[in-house]
Amino acid sequence: MAKLTKQQVLDHIAHSGQKYDVIVLGGGPAGIGAALASAMCGAETCILEEKAFFGGVAAVSGWMPMNRVLLNGEMRGGVFTPFVEKLRSYGTGATRQGKTSWVDGDGLHIHPDYLRYGMIELFEDIGVRYRLHSPGTSAIMEGKRIIGVNCDGKYGHAEFYANVIIDASGDGDVAVSAGAEAMMGRDTDGAFMPVTLGFVISNVDYDRFYEYLGPEAVSPRFMDLMRKKEAEGYAVSGFYAFDKTTVPGVVSVNNSGQNGLGIINALNLDDLNVAERTGLQVAMDFIQIVHEEKIPGLENCELVRTGQALGVRETRRIRGDYVYDITDAQQGRSFPDAVLRRYGTVDTGGLKEEKNYHGSVQNGHDFPYRSLLPLGVEGMLIAGRCASQTHLGATTCKSMGNMMAMGQAAGVAAALSSQEGCTPRQLDVRKIQKKLHEMNAERF
Ligand SMILES: Cc1cc2nc3c(=O)[nH]c(=O)nc-3n(C[C@H](O)[C@H](O)[C@H](O)COP(=O)(O)OP(=O)(O)OC[C@H]3O[C@@H](n4cnc5c(N)ncnc54)[C@H](O)[C@@H]3O)c2cc1C
Repeated sequence: MAKLTKQQVLDHIAHSGQKYDVIVLGGGPAGIGAALASAMCGAETCILEEKAFFGGVAAVSGWMPMNRVLLNGEMRGGVFTPFVEKLRSYGTGATRQGKTSWVDGDGLHIHPDYLRYGMIELFEDIGVRYRLHSPGTSAIMEGKRIIGVNCDGKYGHAEFYANVIIDASGDGDVAVSAGAEAMMGRDTDGAFMPVTLGFVISNVDYDRFYEYLGPEAVSPRFMDLMRKKEAEGYAVSGFYAFDKTTVPGVVSVNNSGQNGLGIINALNLDDLNVAERTGLQVAMDFIQIVHEEKIPGLENCELVRTGQALGVRETRRIRGDYVYDITDAQQGRSFPDAVLRRYGTVDTGGLKEEKNYHGSVQNGHDFPYRSLLPLGVEGMLIAGRCASQTHLGATTCKSMGNMMAMGQAAGVAAALSSQEGCTPRQLDVRKIQKKLHEMNAERF
């Protein structure tokens, strides 16, 4: 690890008023993929992140398996190579290889603090300018073309300019400000995939606990018990999934938040307050229940901590030139403008109706470039969970590796557009495909 002086850090930071080839908004898996790819293609790149750290949900929620960052346990090429190599360079406490089955994972469990630090070092190595605590709040427009981004908040006003801007904020904040249309929730009732306050527990006797749980990803035996406890008045989640972390005896607990809250819209502040409060109680009640019930392997477990904030699975999906649907993934439809392949299956985060689609999609299906182009806006790409998809399309293969691959495609497209002096919509998609091939990332 390189120790830097104050000035050396400041030299890596993006400063207000500067112009770049490419700006990336949001430092989750999609934004990381976009920034790395753009810089690896030679573009002057800047990444702006609202929070105090990079990593998105993986850093917010505690340890998480970043699924499909590897494929069948192997490197995925492109941006994945420096990403995985950087994190592995920190030693055994930083990463742990998870499952390799296509349904359950292909995950790399990453210690959230190594992820936070590793992304900063990687941006410095590759030459990406970064800036934390910097939410993109609105678009700077010239007609229909976005030319910059305003960041307004408690630190005052800052503005950044670029030839191409990628909105990988998950919420599509700046895309909407630029005039793009937001699609929200499930068609039938407006429901979203759940928000979750993840939590982490220690002193777990793995062997006895996993034997008690049984082989299924969500243990029916454990859920039967939790439903009984819910009837007794405890705050209980719709599912619990347990992942071994990089630290011995420490397990992260994924869940879907307190049952029975109805629709939670993560862009509505009232709903967010409800979910933050009830999510905390789900974690506290979990500890009480497993102690009372003397769950094998959890008798001595303790709460290490909950996530830094809620993890959000779905808010705005920005309408693009093509709206990707689950039927495309079910049919394994091939797109002439494919720029990534997505692996895995449907993961609803606990929404019941959508669970019926689990396993119905083709593993390794095409995702088209047109779903990264926000309708009605020039000079912009969208990537990650705010890409152009139906609600069901968004439940499909949304694991972090696929989101990073989507960012990678957007980053390549942005860099090439900037270099060719055209907008992303004008760019010949075959050039993106060729570049991805050269990066050993994707072959079409
Ligand atoms: C609770 C939960 C559990 C999950 N479990 C898994 C799992 O086990 N394995 C797996 O592979 N996937 C999992 N997923 C799915 C995966 O985490 C998401 O699909 C993925 O993180 C989406 O990536 P993203 O970059 O689009 O969005 P996010 O990860 O949400 O990142 C968006 C980033 O943009 C930032 N941002 C927001 N607004 C702005 C703005 N205006 N300006 C600048 N920055 C902004 C945010 O702070 C954040 O850092 C889970 C998701 C959730 C919510």
